[in-house]
Amino acid sequence: MEDLMPQVQAVGLSFAFLVLVFLPMEKVFPAKKGQPFFRPHWVLDLCFFLGQYLLWSGLVTWVLFQFNTQLFGSVPHGFRAMVASQPFWLQVVEVVVLSDFLIYWGHRLQHNVDFLWRFHKVHHSAEHLDWLAAHREHPLDSIYTIGLINLPAMLLGFPLVAIAGFIAFRGIWAVYIHSNVRLPIGPFRMLIGAPELHHWHHDLDRKAGNYANISPLMDVIFGTYVCPNHEPEKFGIHEEFPKSYLGQMVHPLLPEKVAQRFRWKLREDRQPLETITSPSVSTPLSPELTSP
Ligand SMILES: [Zn+2]
Ligand SMILES: [Zn+2]
Repeated sequence: MEDLMPQVQAVGLSFAFLVLVFLPMEKVFPAKKGQPFFRPHWVLDLCFFLGQYLLWSGLVTWVLFQFNTQLFGSVPHGFRAMVASQPFWLQVVEVVVLSDFLIYWGHRLQHNVDFLWRFHKVHHSAEHLDWLAAHREHPLDSIYTIGLINLPAMLLGFPLVAIAGFIAFRGIWAVYIHSNVRLPIGPFRMLIGAPELHHWHHDLDRKAGNYANISPLMDVIFGTYVCPNHEPEKFGIHEEFPKSYLGQMVHPLLPEKVAQRFRWKLREDRQPLETITSPSVSTPLSPELTSP
């Protein structure tokens, strides 16, 4: 129990830090005015926050460490030495550009390949966005994203401590772009990512665009940049999806047939039986069920 105390304290401090930084921003520059602090499904997102800090971050770091060790052996020493001989600022620029390129395409795949979408839709099932909703993510989805983002840094031979720095920075950045904030940064939105861009990524449309991370340049280059002058009407997904922490953790792991039955069960819980079994059931079937 005593062993757990430092971890619990760290979680408490992180929570307090995020509240202190993002709550005033959300009050002064709200993207959706009038959204309360305790909006619907706040507790569910809190479970994801606690799960991420107390359970999954250790697993993700361990996998990343294993991955890094494997890569370390497979990259020729001469290549690493050549990279290391460049000025440090150039190495940082290379890492940021390469990882933005990789995460852009990796993220686009998460929306286009059903197997990856299975895990990624946990994140997109959030119907309200704020600093806390940023933490709604399946651990396997986190491993995929964090692995991909850090692949260039590992290949270029950056020490794990520097990689941990990138992870921390990107973590705060992820919280920022999900926060209920709209800062008046004008044309800089084309260069630096902004919450409104990521908010459009969370539109109900599964392929709404804005897949990039730190800078939206990749979206501009590959034609997926979207930035209307207002917030999307609704966030979330069209598909039926569990609303509990356990349900969201387990659902992506179920074989498709079982998951399908699970979704029908959710539908039954919401609608009278006759609407489900009548021929008109063909109405809003989830895109996942109706897509080829
Ligand atoms: Zn996404
Ligand atoms: Zn997001």
